[in-house]
Amino acid sequence: MNEHRYAGRVRSVEMSGIRKLFEAGGADAINLGIGQPDFDTPDHIKMAAIAAIREGRTGYTPNAGIMELREAICEKFARENGLAYRPEQILVTAGGSEALHLVMEALVDPGDRVLFTDPGFVSYAALAAFAGGKPEGVPLDATLHIDVERAKEQMDEARLFVLNTPGNPTGAVESEESIRALVEYAGDRGVTVVTDEVYEHFIYEKKHVSAARFGEDVITVNAASKTYAMTGWRVGYLAAPEDYIPEFLKVHQYAQACATSISQYAALAAYTGDQSAVVRMREEYRARRDLLYDGLSGLGFDFPRPEGAFYAFVPMGRPLIEKAVENGIIIVPGEAFGSRAPEYARFSYATSRENLSRAIGRLKALMG
Ligand code: PMP
Repeated sequence: MNEHRYAGRVRSVEMSGIRKLFEAGGADAINLGIGQPDFDTPDHIKMAAIAAIREGRTGYTPNAGIMELREAICEKFARENGLAYRPEQILVTAGGSEALHLVMEALVDPGDRVLFTDPGFVSYAALAAFAGGKPEGVPLDATLHIDVERAKEQMDEARLFVLNTPGNPTGAVESEESIRALVEYAGDRGVTVVTDEVYEHFIYEKKHVSAARFGEDVITVNAASKTYAMTGWRVGYLAAPEDYIPEFLKVHQYAQACATSISQYAALAAYTGDQSAVVRMREEYRARRDLLYDGLSGLGFDFPRPEGAFYAFVPMGRPLIEKAVENGIIIVPGEAFGSRAPEYARFSYATSRENLSRAIGRLKALMG
């Protein structure tokens, strides 16, 4: 026990249950726990970073990010999402995580309710609590999609609604109809929508639809991290109505100053360069998704076929989840993602087909 004092806001938050697991499995563990691409960053992106270092682009950049990158992000929004932004509406951050953090810091007052799905991405509840807000889960339906009518019931008087499609940990992709209904309802009720679209490129049947198409008070969070296999470079961004930006900038300026200069030049190459690596990664994830889904269905698990991201969320029951982890199949128990899905486990397929096949084989042996 140490004697140091800590702020209640921070004490109330637990360490992520995901990291804790990595030590659990032993030497021949198969890691399906990790939520990051197993691909290497494409070479032309690395070369741009090397050039930036050589050319001495290693000082602070403007707080909001280099203008070329903000322009490239606007072009990306126009090209891929049908959205018209100006560079003044873009803030480049240290990953999507920082964008989420500074939105919460700037918008959430003590006691404000922050809605997000339960199960949902681990950071939303923690960041809302750091900001002094009250995290509140919205349940999913049996297909792991947002129950729009239930969500609406919780929307009155909430400060933020965080939407995440494709979703972590579920792999669910919300329909245009649901997104439109949620965003329009939030708009009517004065609830700001934060839409986390970091997995937008990893969708296997449906189409990604950006929430900002359906309302004015919508803040889009995205990152190079997953799209270009750049998690360690720490570069993401947000896009918002222009009047939000100065308040976000205050938090960003004092906490971070700017995203890493070198990473910003790398991201510039990512957004303006050849996109074929993204297509290749998507096709590989699709093949892995099929392998994992078919394998787990063959073992008798009944769950919706994942539609996006690189996760399957599988109802297995706690005893089998524990047994799997003890036997070196590292998956993440549902409790890590909220309180409503303790019988589920998240399988990440950001790992080789060989690992996925081994994991299915090992699971089969455990169940036999
Ligand atoms: N949103 C979601 C849904 C995520 O899964 C993650 C990463 N696990 C992030 C945001 C944060 O990504 P970044 O590495 O860009 O901070």
